[in-house]
Amino acid sequence: MKVPFLDLTRPHQALRAEILAAIAAAYDANRFCLGKDVEDFERAFAAACGASDAVGVSNGTTALHLVARALHLGPGDEVIVPAFTFIASAWTASYVGARPVFADIDPATFCLDPQHVASLITPRTKAIVAVHLFGQAAPMDELLAIAAKAGIAVIEDCAQSHLATYRGRPVGLLGDAGTFSFYPTKNLGGCGEGGAVISRRPEMLASARLLRAHGMAVRYRHDEVGYNYRMEGFQGAALGVKLRHLRAWTERRRAIARRYRAEIHLAECALPTVPEWGESVYHQFTLRHPRRDALREHLTSCGVGTDTIYPIPLHLQPVYASLGYKSGDLPRAESCAQTVLSLPIFPELTDAEVGHVIASVNAF
Ligand SMILES: *Cc1c(COP(=O)(O)O)cnc(C)c1O
Repeated sequence: MKVPFLDLTRPHQALRAEILAAIAAAYDANRFCLGKDVEDFERAFAAACGASDAVGVSNGTTALHLVARALHLGPGDEVIVPAFTFIASAWTASYVGARPVFADIDPATFCLDPQHVASLITPRTKAIVAVHLFGQAAPMDELLAIAAKAGIAVIEDCAQSHLATYRGRPVGLLGDAGTFSFYPTKNLGGCGEGGAVISRRPEMLASARLLRAHGMAVRYRHDEVGYNYRMEGFQGAALGVKLRHLRAWTERRRAIARRYRAEIHLAECALPTVPEWGESVYHQFTLRHPRRDALREHLTSCGVGTDTIYPIPLHLQPVYASLGYKSGDLPRAESCAQTVLSLPIFPELTDAEVGHVIASVNAF
């Protein structure tokens, strides 16, 4: 049996008629950039997140850039970013000329280690980027307490954590602003690029709304350097259809994770646990194993697709060589980069496929 790591054909064929009809309606009405489909999606997505409003943008990276601008981050500022995440989390600092300061993670959650974050605060620190990695909410109470004490902002990068909660509260509304990605492979993905900003602070939303469309509050009058970060109409249309399935898809991801946790028995293998503050929405199901590469080869030979997410921690990325980090500086992020392996966990996996993944892991 072959089990792909991810198969987008399954949801996209199942919803083909519905999504293409929604896109066709946008096409026929020339609603290409923002417009009704995007507005409807913004409202529905905000409601799904427990938010009053959402700002639809071109992708998750531009959402982070808009939040950095809304918070007036800039040169001379330091922004604390986990060393183990996708690179875009760090662009939050770099795009506005601020300096990313990389923090180590807790391997149990793959999220920021609050103790290490606290040790990195300086008078120049202006924000913390809390990434809810792989769908797991970060330890927000501790991070918010550190930020409150220092008088700095908390940005939640929710690109992998649609519908995740922290102690029953939706992610994205706990800090100053939350950003989402609708890249096709995310838990909620468009038929192309997309992103959103949510916040409990109305001025954050107003700033994101203004700057996503050239900083133009009044037609052809520009008060600030803005961007063209608008969400496309086709994406609003497609995302509106897919959003209706997000809760069921999330439950299916959790059911698969429960089976993996109950039925995978492999010496030296660390499976993701459920912290007391809330269960992951499992964008990834990522285990750790000291002989990760051999396990991966074994699974490949069994027909099971896997991925190593992420193989290089951010402080050791060539792009940040000038910051002067070296191997050994953030040992837990580095250890995770060398030992993590993500298993297939997309909602359309069949029970037989999940069983084959489990049997293959156990046979290693
Ligand atoms: C995907 C992702 C982003 C960027 O989103 P795009 O829509 O691809 O620009 C940012 N942060 C994290 C953690 C991501 O996984």
